[in-house]
Amino acid sequence: MSDTICAISTALGIGAISIIRVSGNDAIKIVNSIFSGKDLENSPTHTIHYGYIMDKNEKIDEVLVSIMKCPKTFTREDVVEINCHGGIATTNKILELLILNGCRLAEPGEFTKRAFLNGRINLMEAEAVMDLINGKTEEARKMAIKELEGLGSNLIKKLREELSNIISNIEVNIDYPEYNDIYEVTKNDIENKLSFFKKSLEKIVNEYENTKIIKEGIKTVIVGRPNVGKSSILNKILNYNKAIVTDIPGTTRDIVEGEISFNGILLNIIDTAGIRNTNDIVEKIGVEMSLSKIDEADLVLIVLNNNEKLNKIDLDILEKTKNKPNIVVINKNDLETKLDVNKIQDREIVYTNTTTLLGIESLKEKIVKMFNLEKVKTDDQNYINNIRQITKIKECLEKVNDINNSLNNKMPLDIIEIDLRDIWNTLGEIIGENYDEELLDKLFSKFCVGK
Ligand code: GDP
Repeated sequence: MSDTICAISTALGIGAISIIRVSGNDAIKIVNSIFSGKDLENSPTHTIHYGYIMDKNEKIDEVLVSIMKCPKTFTREDVVEINCHGGIATTNKILELLILNGCRLAEPGEFTKRAFLNGRINLMEAEAVMDLINGKTEEARKMAIKELEGLGSNLIKKLREELSNIISNIEVNIDYPEYNDIYEVTKNDIENKLSFFKKSLEKIVNEYENTKIIKEGIKTVIVGRPNVGKSSILNKILNYNKAIVTDIPGTTRDIVEGEISFNGILLNIIDTAGIRNTNDIVEKIGVEMSLSKIDEADLVLIVLNNNEKLNKIDLDILEKTKNKPNIVVINKNDLETKLDVNKIQDREIVYTNTTTLLGIESLKEKIVKMFNLEKVKTDDQNYINNIRQITKIKECLEKVNDINNSLNNKMPLDIIEIDLRDIWNTLGEIIGENYDEELLDKLFSKFCVGK
């Protein structure tokens, strides 16, 4: 970590300004060597300076340079930010000069990785930084900023504290068995304390679906035979023409996606290729993709044509989606009814006519009700909201169950203590108290360069 890194922190493109960030022991010295203005090395920390970035005698850009000396910086290293004019050529030229003068180009997420490794933030807070950048809705933003404030990590720390109380009780008994005045921990004591602990873990797992919805939105897939009106429904929900609508079956051969915010929650809708038996290779791939999208979906909208009888493909789609949250949309309600609705059992049904807006509001209301969106609010959440974190919580739950079995089998306390410590460590992995390099590399590689 001794080298000094640099990266463009703003999106690369045409804009009023761009920010190039530099972090490391030599950050101020290197920027000073290409800066004409005040002597940055002898300037106080947290100050901004006007001047020029120079390539020898040539002026490259008129800039403002912020210098922030460690430890009160994001990375806890010396940090310099160059505010230059936006635009690809200028920004790249300054980056090139920094590299020529001793900086190394930062890897994705390396600034945040340094903030974590230098103890500025914990691992959950680092993940929150990424959530804040990626958040697309108001609720997702609110959740990320609360994570960043440490609400999620505080919960993990509290759980660890509860666990260390149980462990220290056991330890006293193991270490000082000869002292009569020390309260002897019984199997019941541990079971009682563990049951509270277990309930907290279960609550987190149960609430995960909601936190996931706030963060990632509801992955909604529209399926049905060709020409039933899938693309028209997508367009009406989104309120603009995203998908091409024609009366030629098989027009949507690929996947068309759109996003809309519902009660602050993102609805990510995918319009799939119509499902039918086909020999057209391109269309066949599309049909296979449509079927695979059903497996990944949080919600499936099955579109049927009111003007046609149910056929085998419709029934297959209904069968394939029966264990998924789904809504049957009977479209073309303006045309003569030929579909026998009695053959569709135990499903939520909405009737639509996309030549008008009929049924679209009812469809939206059903989605809101199905996912309880009026109640899913960031304030009630536990902020454990990614697959890495929840997998660790589930691991802890399994280990608690193992301990309960061990207690029933009258295993000695020192063995129980080892298992409890194991859970303590697993919780520590969530906030990054213990981690392995490979995990860190994987995690931070998902960040953008410059963050
Ligand atoms: P997809 O192949 O399932 O995506 O279906 P499209 O949305 O492309 O629609 C196929 C054809 O049906 C187009 O000509 C649409 O204008 C027409 N269509 C879609 N919805 C309705 C509807 O509610 N009523 C009527 N009468 N026609 C519709």
